Amino acid sequence: FSPSGPDYLEGLNTEQRLAVETTQGPLLILAGAGTGKTRVLTTRFAHILLQQLAWPEQILAVTFTNKAAREMRERISAILDRPVENLWLGTFHSLCVRMLRQHAALIGLERNFTILDTDDQIRLLKQVMEPWRLDPKRYPPARIMHQIQLWKDRALLPDAITPAQDTELANGQVRAIYAAYQARLKELNACDFGDLMLHMVTIFRQHPEVLERYQSRFRYILVDEYQDTNAIQYLWLRLLARRKDGQPANIACVGDDDQSIYSWRGADIANILRFEKDFPGATIIRLEKNYRSTPRILSAASQIIAHNEDRLGKTLQPGRTDVDGDPIEVISTPDSDDEARIVGARIQTLHEQGHAYGSMAILMRAGFQTRSFEDSLMRMGIPYQVIGGLRFYERAEIRDAIAYMRAVLYPLDDLAFERIVNLPKRGFGNVALSRLRLAAQEAGLSLQQTLQKQLDQGLVKGKNAATLGEFMAALSHAREITSKDGHVIATETILEESGYLTMWRDDPKTVEAAGRLDNIRELLRAIGEFPTMDAFLEHIALVMDGDMAQDEQDRVSLMTLHAAKGLEFPTVFLPGWEEGIFPSQRSLDEGGNQALEEERRLAYVGLTRARERAFILHAASRRIYANWQDSLPSRFIDELPEDQIVRHTVSQQAQRSGSFFNRSPRPSMNRPSSSRYGTKKAAPRPAIPLGATIRHKRYGEGTVVALDGEQLSVNFEDVGLKRIMAGFVEIVP
Ligand code: ATP
Ligand code: MG
Repeated sequence: FSPSGPDYLEGLNTEQRLAVETTQGPLLILAGAGTGKTRVLTTRFAHILLQQLAWPEQILAVTFTNKAAREMRERISAILDRPVENLWLGTFHSLCVRMLRQHAALIGLERNFTILDTDDQIRLLKQVMEPWRLDPKRYPPARIMHQIQLWKDRALLPDAITPAQDTELANGQVRAIYAAYQARLKELNACDFGDLMLHMVTIFRQHPEVLERYQSRFRYILVDEYQDTNAIQYLWLRLLARRKDGQPANIACVGDDDQSIYSWRGADIANILRFEKDFPGATIIRLEKNYRSTPRILSAASQIIAHNEDRLGKTLQPGRTDVDGDPIEVISTPDSDDEARIVGARIQTLHEQGHAYGSMAILMRAGFQTRSFEDSLMRMGIPYQVIGGLRFYERAEIRDAIAYMRAVLYPLDDLAFERIVNLPKRGFGNVALSRLRLAAQEAGLSLQQTLQKQLDQGLVKGKNAATLGEFMAALSHAREITSKDGHVIATETILEESGYLTMWRDDPKTVEAAGRLDNIRELLRAIGEFPTMDAFLEHIALVMDGDMAQDEQDRVSLMTLHAAKGLEFPTVFLPGWEEGIFPSQRSLDEGGNQALEEERRLAYVGLTRARERAFILHAASRRIYANWQDSLPSRFIDELPEDQIVRHTVSQQAQRSGSFFNRSPRPSMNRPSSSRYGTKKAAPRPAIPLGATIRHKRYGEGTVVALDGEQLSVNFEDVGLKRIMAGFVEIVP
């Protein structure tokens, strides 16, 4: 290739350029974090189009998250300088949904099948399991579901499972439960997440003509985050990449074995090692310069991952030589509440120094850690978003509202109907529901249809009859409105007329209930962004799996380390580096090195998300429900190179005197005196009287209406009631 060339190739280094321009035949790019793998893949996509090697619809590109797909689409259209539509670019799942809608009939589904979320999956499985009469304590449905998913991830249909593969749980009955569950899904015209891939692979296997159509359509296949493909994804790729003429397919995969973090979902590093065998004659390119992080961050990350034994081994050099960068700050706090507060304070300081909120991220080991940061950021008035469906779409009120809309649109959707028929309470408890289920089975109708019939025939007696009648009337009224006034107004109507919103308005826990009503308002906004309810429902089914819709506004991002893969932020906070949290308790309990090495890969992923600065935090004591528990700093902290870090201890003393940080050269075991373990310190009383007028940076002026330790409830003139921390307001004289 020539050193000069089209604009879009400028700025790539030699190896990157080679990876873009080697378009024919199989290609594996194996390289560490931040070496430009994704950038190469994106440029390659554009290159194929600009060189007119293929039409847009002849390229299949697989990303790991919807967010990554969106970013890739944007980058491609920037390179091409025009909007691009209708690309086969997305996650494995979103690509499979698109295919499956076309071929649903081949698998016994209708084109408009619904995709169940985790909640509904379990609910359905519980019903299916009833005849087996298994003790739910010994055989929790969630574990049975996990087993079924593992089978699905290996492309195993119920018939293909041998008795020997079904010995771990429930005396070899899981196979049969799996078969019953699949049958029930089909009756409901639904599939779960794992089915999206399973059905497509099944169709490819049973209908070669369908597979052939795709094989000849996709002239180029591009796969990002290849190290995390599981067996069925790999199979799907291999089927699509097979060529009739015996020529090697033009498949390009990029990956990093050090970032393989999904083995618990069946991902298999071995897929990387197998690449050369499965695609003979493959070109292998290594990229060695990291362009993302400062040399110091890179050095720290490299040292941590060097503790793993199970590695392919790669060279990783700093590509950024302009700066050395700041040392990584390792911050010890007395307890987990302080941790959240200090992260908030740091974010605020950085923001005051001119760093956008959107340039900062808090990356957690486990979803449950999010809550304390949400609280702390909310109280300080720092805008944030939770990426990864941990928050919004998983909240009960959101699921309820969606179930209401599903019941409106799909009178056959029994799961949705069950969720809401007694919400708010309509005197229709479990007994009534079981009876209705039985009647529905006998009549061969859905629950909703059956109840309607019973009401029409006057079979429902007592005062519940009127309540249920109103409920059913509300459903059909909303159905009418959908076609007349659209899905947004219909949603609002059903939530109002069913009494659902009133239920929250009358809720005694007003602050929480207000939050729920806010969420529902937000939901209506989200629904409004889609042309139809169907489009919206499909969208959530997809985002629920991994990542949430991106918001253009300036917000701090909160997410798990798993969800952060492939992303980058100038500033990264890594809290909870404690034994039992990170590495997780489960990985420690398993005892083996494998689980621990996967945790270490997660630490590597976390640190390598940072471009300019990274903060690692650990607390000496952590709240677990109502109790406080001691914790030890993570072993990964000890694995950091001392010359790339600086340690801070936040002492209570320092907090009282108002200065957050108390520098100490190496307080390796800086734990507070044991007397305070198990007890919560008294919060410093703010000298803010009830009824005082205060000013908050973000919310403006308001009146203090309640006090609880250092938490204030303030009625703000502009934004209404908020709970905030006393430390972040000033009294207006
Ligand atoms: P990860 O392993 O985390 O997914 P990656 O290998 O996919 O990382 P990219 O996200 O593609 O890396 O690139 C990391 C950063 O480096 C991006 O900001 C990208 O724009 C930048 N970058 C990549 N290549 C170059 C280059 N040749 N010159 C300057 N910057 C580059
Ligand atoms: Mg990448």
